[in-house]
Amino acid sequence: PADAPREASGVATHCAYCGLQCAMTLTGSSAADLAVTPRRFPTNRGGLCQKGWTSAELLRTPGRLTTPLVRRDGALAPASWDEALGVVADAILRTQAAYGRDAVAVFGGGGLTNEKAYQLGKFARVALRTSQIDYNGRWCMSSAAAAGIRCFGLDRGLPFPVTDIGSAHAVLLLGANPAETMPPFLTHLVRAADAGGLMVADPRLTPTAAKALDGGGLHLQLRPGTDAALALGMLHVAVTEGYADRRFIAERTTGFDDLWPVAAQWLPERVERVTGVAVTTLRAAVATLARARDTERGAYVLSARGGEQHASGTDTVTAFIALALALGLPGNPGTGFGTITGQGNGQGGREHGQKADQLPGYRKIDDPAARAHVAAVWGIDAADLPGPGRSAFELLDALGTEGGARVLLVHGSNPVVSAPDARVVSERLAALDLLVVSDFVLSETAATADVVLPVLQWAEEEGTLTNLEGRVLRRRRALAAPSGYRSELEIWSELARRIGCSTGFPTDPRVVFDELRRATAGGPADYSAVTWERLDAGESLHWPCSTERPQGTPRLFLDGFATPDGRARFVPVDHVGPAEAGDTAYPLVATTGRVLQHYQSGAQTRLVDELSAAAGEMFVQVHPDTAATAGLADGDVADVVSRRGRTRATVRVDEDLRPDVVFLPFHWAGEGRANSLTHAALDPTSRMPEFKACAVRLEAVR
Ligand code: SF4
Repeated sequence: PADAPREASGVATHCAYCGLQCAMTLTGSSAADLAVTPRRFPTNRGGLCQKGWTSAELLRTPGRLTTPLVRRDGALAPASWDEALGVVADAILRTQAAYGRDAVAVFGGGGLTNEKAYQLGKFARVALRTSQIDYNGRWCMSSAAAAGIRCFGLDRGLPFPVTDIGSAHAVLLLGANPAETMPPFLTHLVRAADAGGLMVADPRLTPTAAKALDGGGLHLQLRPGTDAALALGMLHVAVTEGYADRRFIAERTTGFDDLWPVAAQWLPERVERVTGVAVTTLRAAVATLARARDTERGAYVLSARGGEQHASGTDTVTAFIALALALGLPGNPGTGFGTITGQGNGQGGREHGQKADQLPGYRKIDDPAARAHVAAVWGIDAADLPGPGRSAFELLDALGTEGGARVLLVHGSNPVVSAPDARVVSERLAALDLLVVSDFVLSETAATADVVLPVLQWAEEEGTLTNLEGRVLRRRRALAAPSGYRSELEIWSELARRIGCSTGFPTDPRVVFDELRRATAGGPADYSAVTWERLDAGESLHWPCSTERPQGTPRLFLDGFATPDGRARFVPVDHVGPAEAGDTAYPLVATTGRVLQHYQSGAQTRLVDELSAAAGEMFVQVHPDTAATAGLADGDVADVVSRRGRTRATVRVDEDLRPDVVFLPFHWAGEGRANSLTHAALDPTSRMPEFKACAVRLEAVR
């Protein structure tokens, strides 16, 4: 079986980091000698990236926390678990008595296991009885999720197995750079690249875009924030040049006539003016997708954060879904639309209730039937379930203010580095009465906390995660839990007891998963027929997996979309553009992203020597013409300045970038924090901040 628990040589599990969840085998008896080897699995086909290969270093890094910490006289000092949890429980009781339930808030993470994501949502709503819970996935997949629900009636990143993409001769990637973010994913793009059908829309000539060009494919080097115009222009070409699938539009969709008047305005020449993508490239991209579809060689449109992390991200993804629908790609075998999940449990993390507006099973928190079902599983009255709370940035932005939370519990997230307009978020965190951070390293957020709780790591715990294709995977313990640490499940159970909650919070992840199965039963993301036993027997189970669909659902939408009438929806959306305009003081557009060696805020990967040695410092990528205008040369130090702050970085002069754009990775803190520049214009639907475009200038540092 592909994912059975034990091989002769070690423990079969999955990577500590990203949403591809590459399969690996862990061997060794202690953190000091634990070794990682890749394991053949459909998603990674025996590959790992540098982060995966070095992931065991996390277990032995000297940067690991060893004991709870409590702030005394301004400094974090070692404390017992009893003391640390006592400080937290007392603050919760005192604060809620004085200011109400919502004065305590919870902030989760897309790397938490399914069991933890579920239990955190339950802990917030049943033990704390607060509505104030959200998580860092709001800043990751929320626009794609909102667009998927809007157009298909359901959000599952890839509604087909990732291996399906491997057969395709045409793949259009929107703001995705898997060559650096998840290199083993490239194995699924080889055929498209070799066929000249790999196409990458990105302001940078990334390694992924270079691979496309090497194979005769396309690089659509658009201006940041013009993705929706690109999609509408491609839709225009598809319709006016005979590539649209009229029968599919008529039989399996609604709303085309509502969107077409908008798309009809996006003539290719206008698209070129707005996006910078040449008319010939635009036409070639549409023709490549249609040709692969017509010859049954596979055609896919895949979005990622480049197009999604905008204040108009939901509409942008909606426009690309419209392009895919016009071409008849979704809901058919061998073709489709999908989004590439980033965080390790980015998919499962958003299904089980850590989102402000959702309950387990991807249910809406304001749906009376959903509330009744989940409340029954939790043994409470539905009337006692809080309603929707604030989205991630809004929750943080309200901290310490009138009506905002005064105590915050952070789990699996580092918002001091990863939040938009991070200087403001740091100020808000400092205004709290009590900040509690559970982590296994002293992240920048933990370093500012009043209480720090050291938790177990991925190789020391059992659980499940759901990967980018909706497949439920087992995370398995390879090492005994070291003394002095607790799992988050134990922390929430003990805190619930200390604040007088009568509801039980099990600490065994298998028991929690069985409860999760009941809570998700009948919901959009139904896990009710997934069991650890089936996963350990090597079964491949994609949700929904229920008594009606006991073998799971690798491919969604083949029999109809998840809308009331079974048809996908065209939704009228238009190009909006970046929320922040440039001017003579801030003439450039800054966009942010990742590098091969680092993951998210870098709190983990910056502690791995091999990764730090390969990518140890903050840099800003600048076009040669732009560098010359600013008086900068390769290797100089510059400040990148926005209306909110400045970020210091080493200049990398690089022709691979548009002259009007600078690129900054977001893995570093302090002076090199990219999110000191970004701003929090929020998408009206998803509440996604605009990470991918803000107005900046360059200043040489002499
Ligand atoms: Fe881990 Fe992602 Fe790298 Fe795979 S691609 S080894 S899951 S970080």
